[in-house]
Amino acid sequence: MTGPKQTGRTPNAIVIGAGLAGLTAAISLQREGWEVEVVEARDRVGGRTWSRPLPGGAVAEMGAEFILPGNTAVRRLADELEIGLWDKGVRYGRREPRGGLYTDRASLDSAVETLDRALAGLRPDSPLSAAELISTLAIDAGARDVLLARAEISAASSADLIPAGDLSGVAHINDQPSPGVAGGNQMLSHAMASRLGERLTLGDPVVSVSRRGVRSVEVESASGRSWRGSGCVVSVPASVIGRIEFSPALPEEKASAMAGVRYGHAAKLLVPLAEPAPPSAVLNVPQRYWCWTETGAEDLPVPLVSCFAGSTFALDMLEVEAGPDRWLDSLRSLRPDLPLVTDRAILSTWDDDPWMGAAYSVSPPADQAELLRAPVGPIAFAGEHTAGSFSGLMEGAVRSGRAAAGQLLRG
Ligand SMILES: Cc1cc2nc3c(=O)[nH]c(=O)nc-3n(C[C@H](O)[C@H](O)[C@H](O)COP(=O)(O)OP(=O)(O)OC[C@H]3O[C@@H](n4cnc5c(N)ncnc54)[C@H](O)[C@@H]3O)c2cc1C
Repeated sequence: MTGPKQTGRTPNAIVIGAGLAGLTAAISLQREGWEVEVVEARDRVGGRTWSRPLPGGAVAEMGAEFILPGNTAVRRLADELEIGLWDKGVRYGRREPRGGLYTDRASLDSAVETLDRALAGLRPDSPLSAAELISTLAIDAGARDVLLARAEISAASSADLIPAGDLSGVAHINDQPSPGVAGGNQMLSHAMASRLGERLTLGDPVVSVSRRGVRSVEVESASGRSWRGSGCVVSVPASVIGRIEFSPALPEEKASAMAGVRYGHAAKLLVPLAEPAPPSAVLNVPQRYWCWTETGAEDLPVPLVSCFAGSTFALDMLEVEAGPDRWLDSLRSLRPDLPLVTDRAILSTWDDDPWMGAAYSVSPPADQAELLRAPVGPIAFAGEHTAGSFSGLMEGAVRSGRAAAGQLLRG
């Protein structure tokens, strides 16, 4: 079947991927009068935002959870879609460290000040890793341990692979609000999908993208459907872009920028509680995970504890590949105060996800970021991995979707 043909009057685009990036691009184009078709491999929208409602008003976020301080685009999107935020009552940037070398709040705060001074003097293109920068700081040994754990968990990578600059972003220790979308972050994607109506195809992976001219591109899916448009937005993660055949092939430097995207590895464990617990956040320093209890609607505590482990090291130590048992044992010891309902625990893994295969990208050097977001003729590229310093975040996905739409609109 062939979809809408280019008419010469109404420009049209095919968007590949119905995660936050793709859907943001789609509604941005639609708002400007474009006809848009969105094609998604999964049988749901949202990609790495996937929210499962649980009893008692809790929402298990299988992927993205917190809107970080300074993440304005995702907040603006929620506003535009008339969706509220839940404060959660917990702060992404503040976790009580347990299990490592001893440190106290004053030493940690002083270490963060020292780190911030070092970061202020860092060149934006500094090749220093988080591990290298932290090793130069004259700080308390326990606080150093916490900074390293914090960086490795949040960037989902080992500290020697994390750019030092990320210590001022995803891994920053602070007390600023870090809400989530009311009802779950996937609500953003549901709301955008409802604006597309029937112009959304689910469960049908795209297998090829062919440039037919300066303003013409044809997209084919695994089921044999095809769509032709004056533009296309490819918003699939770099980790799975190789499953799409581009014709002609992507320019060498574009392809190698994509192949060079480094991804972190993470998993979540979501455990219902026999009763709601007030907000709390605890960092397991040696095992590289943290857990939190939170509030939901009307700032009321919900009966759920969520855990997030980042880095291959953490996933191996918690034996995530074998299931939730080892992690549950650890959580029981870490949080004896919580009435865990372990037989309803949900383990969320992404390394084995066929349309992702990892968690999120580690921010790339500026020149690679430039190549990742550069259009190729009528094909624009979106996705958190193209978002430079906002990569790895919902914020990056939303910004990249708007940017890709802008590229097509400008022609
Ligand atoms: C465990 C975890 C925790 C996280 N926590 C946070 C957090 O607290 N805060 C935060 O801001 N971010 C967080 N993130 C990151 C955030 O989820 C992502 O940055 C963001 O959702 C990425 O959106 P995207 O649209 O770029 O990619 P995706 O959401 O991956 O969307 C891409 C879409 O493309 C589809 N696709 C792939 N191949 C094809 C194909 N061939 N044809 C058609 N469709 C295809 C995929 O199925 C997917 O739906 C977390 C991520 C994970 C995994």
